[in-house]
Amino acid sequence: MRDLTIPEQRHPEKQKRPDAAQPPKPAWIRVKAATSQGFKDTQKIMRDNKLVTVCEEASCPNVGECWSQGHATMMIMGDVCTRACTFCNIATGKPPEALDIFEPGRVADAVKKLGLNHVVITSVDRDDIEDGGAEHFAQTIRAIRKQAPNTTIEILTPDFIRCNDNVLQLVVDAKPDVFNHNLETVPGLYPEVRPGARYFHSLRLLQRVKELDPTIFTKSGIMVGLGEDRQAVMQVMEDMRAADIDFLTIGQYLQPTPKHHAVDRFVTPEEFKSYEKAAFGKGFLMVSATPLTRSSYHAGDDFARLRAARLAKMGLS
Ligand code: SF4
Repeated sequence: MRDLTIPEQRHPEKQKRPDAAQPPKPAWIRVKAATSQGFKDTQKIMRDNKLVTVCEEASCPNVGECWSQGHATMMIMGDVCTRACTFCNIATGKPPEALDIFEPGRVADAVKKLGLNHVVITSVDRDDIEDGGAEHFAQTIRAIRKQAPNTTIEILTPDFIRCNDNVLQLVVDAKPDVFNHNLETVPGLYPEVRPGARYFHSLRLLQRVKELDPTIFTKSGIMVGLGEDRQAVMQVMEDMRAADIDFLTIGQYLQPTPKHHAVDRFVTPEEFKSYEKAAFGKGFLMVSATPLTRSSYHAGDDFARLRAARLAKMGLS
């Protein structure tokens, strides 16, 4: 595999001020109302188990559809993030010092109550903790395995950039089925969109997961409509394949509030289709590229396809 630990390149993509005039939302950005009984049942389980979800914290447009089917993405380690990414609606600040040691058990209990075939667990960034929360992720995976042994587990982690290299092993040893870490955008937009992160560090993290345990699926995603151009998106795909990433997600960026990074443009469904085609052509096992694609959107169905694609590649289907 190509060595990705080279210095970050900066590209001259357009960077748009949050207060710039916003393009009108097109007809293809349509979401389901959050009113069904299934939505209320999911909400009650989240509240009863005192859990935070990225669905609510990030104001995800798919919450009506996902929660109506019990598909909530739980966010561990609190609701305050130590980073200040300009696309993200999660609160930034100084989180409470101690992690909640009972949280893994409550997450596992919620997974069991929801009866999920596949669950996605994510977290805020916790740069204030020595292992970045790696052990807490591992404990959460183990707790779910115990209470819901038939549920497949996908984790969407921070980049552990300030941690010792060994912390990744803690998470890998807990054997999630899918290890997801989002690159979020093209490298040229990192200084504005993801200022606390480094593009090549994130790529290398995913490459190391595969080196440590090739049986774990790796997944990553970007948002489009932030000001990137097509050529930069194609280069991200190349970089991801060089890092042996199995599954790519691409979705439309939506500005959560007027204070956040502005939408540069709405990418058309036809362009998403062409990204999907190009990505499959570059060798990804699975691709989800639609305006409303998010890391955890339809993650269970996509995991089934991902597994089938690997079996087919091995000539076992
Ligand atoms: S797409 Fe993911 S974050 Fe959004 S509502 Fe669905 S499960 Fe939650």
